[in-house]
Amino acid sequence: MAVTRTFSIIKPDATRRNITGAVTKMLEEAGLRVVASKRIHMSREQAEGFYAVHKERPFFGELVDFMISGPVVVQVLEGEEAMQRNRDIMGATNPKDAAAGTIRGELAESIEANTVHGSDSDENAAIEIAYFFKPEEIVG
Ligand code: UDP
Repeated sequence: MAVTRTFSIIKPDATRRNITGAVTKMLEEAGLRVVASKRIHMSREQAEGFYAVHKERPFFGELVDFMISGPVVVQVLEGEEAMQRNRDIMGATNPKDAAAGTIRGELAESIEANTVHGSDSDENAAIEIAYFFKPEEIVG
């Protein structure tokens, strides 16, 4: 298995509830290492650009509003097959469908306020990491 990197966001529902540590603990226990992390409050333009792939979806406006409703923690995660490993520990998009023991299964509030974002391919991971981090901010 190859050691790779993926991109994660701890969303505003989690910063509001002060559970960023609990989320990070679950990521670490799943075998992922946080090699970059910063707490930011995204601008509308930044969030719209990040979610541009979803701009035709009916939930786009509400998703952007939610993602700028409070601070988030953007992270680069490293580990064996990091993208898939992170998707597995995140759980299904809708917490009603997310397995027990996953971040969304244990902590998410709703399909929108679902606690974490994670890249869905290695290609998108590289794009999303570069959207928020300079190479020198990532310390493996
Ligand atoms: N989302 C939403 N309503 C929906 C589907 C998705 O608000 O009906 C939000 C949700 O926060 C989700 C994000 O849009 O995490 C991106 O959706 P995607 O289908 O890419 O799910 P993910 O990859 O986050 O599991």
